[in-house]
Amino acid sequence: MKSIFSKIIDREIPAEIVAENEQIIVIKDINPKAPIHLLIIPKKEIRDIQSFGPEDFGLAAAIFQMAQELSRTVPGAEEFRLQVNSGHKAGQRVFHVHAHFLAGAEMCD
Ligand code: 5GP
Repeated sequence: MKSIFSKIIDREIPAEIVAENEQIIVIKDINPKAPIHLLIIPKKEIRDIQSFGPEDFGLAAAIFQMAQELSRTVPGAEEFRLQVNSGHKAGQRVFHVHAHFLAGAEMCD
């Protein structure tokens, strides 16, 4: 079954899309935990980092590159936190790998 993020990528369900390229889509998180809370999502549906194949690690670079681009283009996002929850115990709830891009507030914890 398709993940909720694949449905967003395929425009089957709506989302606020902030950026997109061949490999990645960036959307606003529906339940933001910071003033700026974006999700950087590889278009390839991979469950979690544990499931990456050798051919998938370029996506990690694509995520970092997109994070840099967002920090330069989204007002207030010059400094940011990038977080990946990989596995249920780590807090992952959507099993389509993604990075949380959090910014716009002091994050001390
Ligand atoms: P996880 O806990 O898997 O690391 O993060 C999943 C994130 O996806 C959560 O922060 C949650 O708010 C967000 N999310 C879940 N469903 C949707 C949705 O349908 N649309 C958007 N924009 N975000 C979603």
